[in-house]
Amino acid sequence: MPRYKPYDYRQRQLMSISLEDQIRPGTMEYVIHLLVENELDFSGIEKSYKNDNTGRPAIDPRILFKNILLAHSKGITGSRRIEQACKENILFMALSCGQTPDHSTIAAFVSGMTDQIMPLFQKVLLVCDSQGLLSGTHFSLDGLKLPSNASKGWSGTFDELSVKKSKLDDKLKRLMSDHLDQDKDKSSSDDDHDRRDRQIKKLKRSSERIQKFLDSNEPRLGARNKEKKSNITDNDSAKMSTSHGVIQGYNAQALVDEKHQIIVHGSASGKGQDNDQLEQIMDGAKANMEAIGHGSDYFEGRQLSADSNYHSNTNLKTVIAEKLDAYIPDNLFRKRDSRFKTRDRHKPKTKSKIRYELDKFTYDSQTDTYTCPAGGQLVLYVKRNKINGIVYRTYRSPVANCSDCKLRSECLRTKKTIRRQLNIPIEHHNPQTLSQKMIVKIDKPESGKIYEKRIGVVEPVFGNIRACKQLDRFTLRGQAKVDVQWLLFCMVHNVEKILNYGTLGV
Ligand code: SF4
Repeated sequence: MPRYKPYDYRQRQLMSISLEDQIRPGTMEYVIHLLVENELDFSGIEKSYKNDNTGRPAIDPRILFKNILLAHSKGITGSRRIEQACKENILFMALSCGQTPDHSTIAAFVSGMTDQIMPLFQKVLLVCDSQGLLSGTHFSLDGLKLPSNASKGWSGTFDELSVKKSKLDDKLKRLMSDHLDQDKDKSSSDDDHDRRDRQIKKLKRSSERIQKFLDSNEPRLGARNKEKKSNITDNDSAKMSTSHGVIQGYNAQALVDEKHQIIVHGSASGKGQDNDQLEQIMDGAKANMEAIGHGSDYFEGRQLSADSNYHSNTNLKTVIAEKLDAYIPDNLFRKRDSRFKTRDRHKPKTKSKIRYELDKFTYDSQTDTYTCPAGGQLVLYVKRNKINGIVYRTYRSPVANCSDCKLRSECLRTKKTIRRQLNIPIEHHNPQTLSQKMIVKIDKPESGKIYEKRIGVVEPVFGNIRACKQLDRFTLRGQAKVDVQWLLFCMVHNVEKILNYGTLGV
């Protein structure tokens, strides 16, 4: 028979733990501890404490902030989980000196940081700058769309919400009358009665909630005074489309320095589009650089790269106003790039992809027409057809030609397409527009090389925050609080860079 060492759960052990020894150099908790104790200024936050003469002593905001930063670095965002970590995890216990903040204290602290988060972010940025982690040569901007703590089912224009409310009221009336009928029916059980009662109360609450929202809010107006969808739970968030479908969420922006991917400014907004974000981001970034001792002209002449979602007249005007050396391509940039000519050959062939390219059509300059492979003619339909900032001449074949054509399956995009259309770009048309000037600039080979930096500068930042820090949705509600949450993650990202590339962690 094998022999084992005996064990007894009733035995007692006395363990001596030095909290200070747990915060070892070269770790995230060590850098957070040093930053909070020596660099960050909490005087702004301390003003909100009103217990100088009366009331219970509060937990020091430094203790709370250290634990919140460490929690965010480990993908823990919920206040209850942070509270639990302070009771169970030795690193959190060490950082909080054995104090166990309640989850409501943590939640109130984070929610109350709306005015103080930016000065703290700037202090961390100052440390990054003093450690030589900023190059100031090339900046990349991008946005990350994440779901908010609100359901898109509670979204709609005021008319849509009124319809939703009247549907709920109708259902409520029906249920109440059924309820009365079944009350008279003696065979109905108590369980049925309770279930219907709960259903009625729930519907009543929902209907009252919509009415309260409609009474206390105004419709949100978007571009060209068109009404945008409101959301009853979090009216600052918006419906936005992502590669994974439509979400109710926020668009978190980050402007990142090239050298070590330090975030120089971050903000979250309820705008799904990136086409007018640049001005606000540059204002914030300039304020941050001024706060850490640089001039307001810090970004003048610096390179800025952003993807084609930022290619808009509004953003390009900001580029001019801020004197940036910007590289923001339009969304046909890759199509014009000869290196991407054969990119479709590895894609599975679908019916919409096998249609005839332009080289199968013959142009006749005398008649200004194209002849298709079946011998039919495509005649000029629109002289100036502007699509995404590029002007095309559009040619079309007659429907009668294409309807009986044997080459339909190879020429037309889908079975339902009734005729073939050709869009011929007019090169460098109207080079005076900002968009065209940018297109001419980005098409130069040397510009392509600069633009290529973007993917290595800003994308790893979002990869780190999403995958390693596990931010997959905002848990707070309202623009100001979501901004706090996003800046906390940006700050943690920068602190990690100080740990990995600075001298503070050793
Ligand atoms: S589908 Fe129309 S455009 Fe295409 S080859 Fe046939 S007739 Fe010509």
